[in-house]
Amino acid sequence: MTQVEICDQHVWAALGIVSRDGSVSRVWECEDCPVWTTEPFDPEYERDWDDTWLAGR
Ligand SMILES: [Zn+2]
Repeated sequence: MTQVEICDQHVWAALGIVSRDGSVSRVWECEDCPVWTTEPFDPEYERDWDDTWLAGR
């Protein structure tokens, strides 16, 4: 098995959104190594769809 190099300072790039354990997270991946993470969205700041101008588009 080849040794994977993990960088000291990751170059984070946002990949997309995942639903995990009933909550939504943004996926970040390092551009230079396989390390990745998920940034949880704070449910406190969620707004109802109908309360946004998006609903009336
Ligand atoms: Zn990295």
